[in-house]
Amino acid sequence: MHELSLTRSLLEIVEDYARREGFTKVRSLKLSFGRLSCIDPEAFRFAFSVQARGTKAEGAELEFDIRPAVLYCFRCEREFSSDAFRPACVHCGGEEVLLTRGTEEMKLLEMDVD
Ligand SMILES: [Zn+2]
Repeated sequence: MHELSLTRSLLEIVEDYARREGFTKVRSLKLSFGRLSCIDPEAFRFAFSVQARGTKAEGAELEFDIRPAVLYCFRCEREFSSDAFRPACVHCGGEEVLLTRGTEEMKLLEMDVD
């Protein structure tokens, strides 16, 4: 499962910070990723709650900032966002579109610690 390796590397980052900064507990974590990056927030939450047991991040709240998918239309040369997997341009209906954003990897934006 994809989410398991993600939570594992997130927890490694947290432990690393804890060693350097000397905090004892993580209250919340804010993460961002693209809507099309194949990360299921609920699966991630679950994997995190299991793997964080016994670490400084146990019980930490997770907040997700999910970035929208953005497509570029070759016909009218404009950008638009879409949740559809086979999208057409919202401006002109053109189907020659290129995905420009939405597949961003997971990133740690903020960490609230004690
Ligand atoms: Zn268009």
